[in-house]
Amino acid sequence: MMHTQCPFCSVQCKITLHSSESTTLHPTLPLMTYQAEGTPNAASQGRLCIKGMNAHQHVFNRERLKYPLIRRQGELVRASWQEVNDYIANRLQQSIQQSGRDSIGIYGGGSLTNETAYLLGKFARVAIGTKYIDYNGRFCMSAAASAGSKTFGIDRGLTCQLSDIPLAKCIILAGTNIAECQPTLMPYFNQAKENGAQIIVIDPRVTATATIADIHLQIRPGTDALLANTMLKIMLEQDWIDHEFIKKRTNGYEELAELVRSIDIEQTASICDVPVALIYQAAQVYAQASTGIIFTARGVEQQTDGHLAVRYFLNLVLATGKIGKPGCGYGAVTGQGNGQGGREHGQKADQLPGYRSIENPADRAYISSVWNIDPEDLPDKGVSAYEMMELIDQQQITTLFVMGSNPIVSNPNIPLVRAGLEKLDLLIVADLFLSETAQLADIVLPVTAYLENTGTLTNLEGRVLLREAARPIPYESKHDWQILCELARVLGQHTGFDFAQAEDVFNELRLASRGGLADYYGITYDRLRREEGIYWPCPSLDHSGVPTMFADSFAHADGRAVFTSIANVATKDTISSDYPLLMTNGRVLAHYLTGVQTRRSATLTAREPENFMEIHSQTAKRYHIKDNDWVEVSSVRGSFTIRCRIKNHIREDTLFVPMHWGGAQNVNQATDPTLDAYCKMPGFKVSAVCIRPASLR
Ligand code: SF4
Repeated sequence: MMHTQCPFCSVQCKITLHSSESTTLHPTLPLMTYQAEGTPNAASQGRLCIKGMNAHQHVFNRERLKYPLIRRQGELVRASWQEVNDYIANRLQQSIQQSGRDSIGIYGGGSLTNETAYLLGKFARVAIGTKYIDYNGRFCMSAAASAGSKTFGIDRGLTCQLSDIPLAKCIILAGTNIAECQPTLMPYFNQAKENGAQIIVIDPRVTATATIADIHLQIRPGTDALLANTMLKIMLEQDWIDHEFIKKRTNGYEELAELVRSIDIEQTASICDVPVALIYQAAQVYAQASTGIIFTARGVEQQTDGHLAVRYFLNLVLATGKIGKPGCGYGAVTGQGNGQGGREHGQKADQLPGYRSIENPADRAYISSVWNIDPEDLPDKGVSAYEMMELIDQQQITTLFVMGSNPIVSNPNIPLVRAGLEKLDLLIVADLFLSETAQLADIVLPVTAYLENTGTLTNLEGRVLLREAARPIPYESKHDWQILCELARVLGQHTGFDFAQAEDVFNELRLASRGGLADYYGITYDRLRREEGIYWPCPSLDHSGVPTMFADSFAHADGRAVFTSIANVATKDTISSDYPLLMTNGRVLAHYLTGVQTRRSATLTAREPENFMEIHSQTAKRYHIKDNDWVEVSSVRGSFTIRCRIKNHIREDTLFVPMHWGGAQNVNQATDPTLDAYCKMPGFKVSAVCIRPASLR
């Protein structure tokens, strides 16, 4: 019997895994069979979705990398750790001598533990000395995170607790398909409905989540920001706002009123393609409810105006005073297993541990003291994940180290990304499997899986949880943090990377985060073993953490939240006669991120074996496409060919393609790489495309 947590989303459901000897003695099958059982913790209450039930399958998959690989004469062949470490050290030193430290890029992931995310940032900035580090969370949470920081002064995904959901009388789910992405949260929303809550869903599709909606605003992709401002205009016109809260606890209301004054509701409703009456109804239900929570996710955030769109939704929260009290708040529904913690401790280009800013002299001085380096030696701010891909394509970055990520599938504009990665002098990938990115690598390092790796993860509520190793390390795999320590040592860093166990790394992280916005100082492994997770900030050992944020004040210096009155001037892909349809992307129930793990689970793959495109029957008819036909989808960036599913739950002008497959089925062959000016999120969710039956090629 093993106790663990599901690695596949931000709820972090607890699992008990039972094993027994297999009754099947076929030589290709494992000797053991496993059965997962949900085990109560405060977030999941004992529930598991299909991903959690089968999360162990990839761990025992025969394709697991067993030993390090090195490319010789074009082939990846077995090597020893000593050999690959020496090779990497030599090549990195060569690269630094010839082209400088910034010729090396580090690329992390939001599923890594807090310990690894922290150490990856330190490895980049201390052991390598490069400013180029960023991670796949740039494509996940960056819009919501930066919006929360601007509005509240701090970014914690959920400002309240999951247990507040049933207390809310109105819930807005904007661009989030929780029923497929975080399924074990759905009972919270069903409970809220039973308690009389009205659920408002904003989504271009009638998703599984939208089926519980009382009001569904099936907007045109890309119009979320406009919709939020239209709702605000209605609330202001009708005086459905909380004047006392605005006066006592916010800044910028007058400017906000000015921003929405010019909105013509009839016109914006027409752009959003939603009836005016329905927008009025949604605005009224939310504004007049005694309690309410707004959730946003990637549907709103993965756009070229995702940052401002979230801030406009936060304007609704502040205008109605629905924050800091029971049944109220805002939640960014994190996608990745450690989407929250992964963005707090330094693997992001602009951040240092504890949510400190790399541009703030005091923050730089503090972290330099923890790392025992001169602040002058701490690299400056680098660039975002996709911008790193551009620098690789321009051969400014010539070496890339990837840990816990699959950038050749998850980035937009794959033609450029592939061309760049193929130009690298050296590509090192640490992963469980030979992912699409690892297939291009010069060196591949085998890492331990979630069942084997101890570390902390911070779930979507900001609750820090300890996941302990449940089985021995298999083959020649190593923990991510061990790999970083060993590489740092062969690079000559004999102190600062001499950790014996994950807990030692966490204890340094605690110190590094002390006094920062995301303060973990009071959280210890011992406490996490005794308590059911601890919410940050937790500044001292006797502090119980903060489950509900902003009860009395916000995190800006004056304690007040800030309304956003910035005009939205972002550009987006727009349809034309050449590209007359809008394509959006997203997740399906059975898969996680780029599918490196879930596509190696027999049960999950059986459920969704290949990628597909959803298309409305009227649109399919216009293009002479039948259900299951192969279709070529093209944008100005590139094309892919995919099987289609005719579904009338999608708008006629919109196509939907999941994001979990690489290669020829990768939706990102065609997605828009234009970046949000504030957070550098690409415009994944709105891409103008054309389609034709694949047989006509
Ligand atoms: Fe829970 Fe998310 Fe795992 Fe499903 S994928 S079991 S909801 S942690």
